[in-house]
Amino acid sequence: MKHENRDFLADSDRIKQIYAGPNIADESIRALIAYAPAAMAVFRGRECIIDFVNEKVLQIWQKPHEEVLNKPLFEVMPELAGQGLEEIFEHIYATGEKFTADEFPVKFLRDGKPIIDYRNFVYEPLRDKNNEIYAIASIGIDVTGQVKARQKVEEAEERARLAVEATDIGTVDINLVDNTAIASPRFTEIAGVPNEKGYFTFLTRLHPEDRPIRDEAFRNALLYGKLFYEARIITDDGIRWIRGMGQTYYNEGGSPVRMLGTIADITDQRVLQQQKDEFISLASHELKTPLTSLKAYIQLLQRAKDGQRIPREFVDNSIKQIGRLEKLIADLLDVSKISSGKLTYNMETIDFSILLRETIRSLQLTVPTHWFVLQGNPSVMLAGDRYRLEQVLSNYLMNAVKYSPNSNNVIINSEIQRNELVVSVQDFGVGITPEHLPKLFDRFYRIENTSKTFEGLGLGLYVSSEIIKRHHGRFWTESEPGKGSTFYFSLPIA
Ligand code: ADP
Repeated sequence: MKHENRDFLADSDRIKQIYAGPNIADESIRALIAYAPAAMAVFRGRECIIDFVNEKVLQIWQKPHEEVLNKPLFEVMPELAGQGLEEIFEHIYATGEKFTADEFPVKFLRDGKPIIDYRNFVYEPLRDKNNEIYAIASIGIDVTGQVKARQKVEEAEERARLAVEATDIGTVDINLVDNTAIASPRFTEIAGVPNEKGYFTFLTRLHPEDRPIRDEAFRNALLYGKLFYEARIITDDGIRWIRGMGQTYYNEGGSPVRMLGTIADITDQRVLQQQKDEFISLASHELKTPLTSLKAYIQLLQRAKDGQRIPREFVDNSIKQIGRLEKLIADLLDVSKISSGKLTYNMETIDFSILLRETIRSLQLTVPTHWFVLQGNPSVMLAGDRYRLEQVLSNYLMNAVKYSPNSNNVIINSEIQRNELVVSVQDFGVGITPEHLPKLFDRFYRIENTSKTFEGLGLGLYVSSEIIKRHHGRFWTESEPGKGSTFYFSLPIA
């Protein structure tokens, strides 16, 4: 039965009844105790007979007075057993010392459901004339609200911390009054400084050209509240780009007292941005070159008099330039389709040996400078997109030709290794130094010293790698500078 809260001031008999235990004559003090917001009780003897409880206790226990008085505590409230209270009582009887506990968790059944409340408790021994402990008085204050609120704040802080960690951002808390700062581990890592107090070392690590940019941003942040800048820092691993952001906090007088700041490592973004910028200028140049020669041929044709014989090479060269343009535009379109996930594949079962032989044959017709030598090439059925796989082969073969201007053989090998078909294209050209090998298949990647000699956009291998990945295959390169390169890809065999 749920216990009802009643108007006790009007019920002084009941107050007397409640406070039948300890001998307090003053009725107003009795009323005070009965109404106290703290839970008060007296437990008699080691059996913990309930001698007295005030209204707060009855509310918590959800029991009427008559059901609890003069009964053993753990009989009335069996769910309280085994939570450490027995040991506390035992300790008080053994030592005579009072016991206090803060935020002591207590498990209850409320409306039949288990819940945990937190209490600040005092258990005080009560002594008789002979100084023997005859009972224990307990006062408990419910601090569940406080504890839960604190737990919520702690959880929110933890969530914020995890969110910041997930974004890979370093944070710093700058005290603008005493000029101290505490940085997070990620901050020290990005900034390349020794420890959490290393914020000011970080400032010395800023690139001398960029230090004024940061200082200006900081001055503005103190005035207007928001910090934002991008700058280079010199770390042990070289130059890195960072983005600093922050928020200034002011005291009531309007003076800045604190800044919460973040830094992010934006080196990769910057490199990509730079590559994109370079790419746009390169792409414009690459598109313009064939267009300029095409225009020149057409102007020559325009000037030709009626009936004049037009040299065949004009037409052939024009067609060649159109081919170059088509290839460039096709690569660009493929890259944009890959970025938006719209590159579609028509998968069918194909005999790869036929596809390889025919692709080589038709490319050989357009390449007078090199011999394509096909080795191995066992008949093998696999699932693939015919057009896209031809594209990969064409990229590998045309690169082999392009990057081996002083040789005239390209060896293509295809063989079964375990559960995959491994295809390789070997040239005897300029080769590649090892540091570039892992990056060749990245978007826009071109090797600095070869890119001036050889035209290209750094897209062919990227597009190829995406196609191979969609076929669940692998790709890799072996190379020796000055001797040549072998580009591989593999395809799983069904
Ligand atoms: P590109 O249009 O520049 O040729 P790719 O994506 O096809 O673009 O190749 C990326 C870079 O890899 C090239 O710029 C070149 O530096 C290098 N590369 C590709 N194939 C070869 C090769 N067979 N020999 C030497 N370097 C190569």
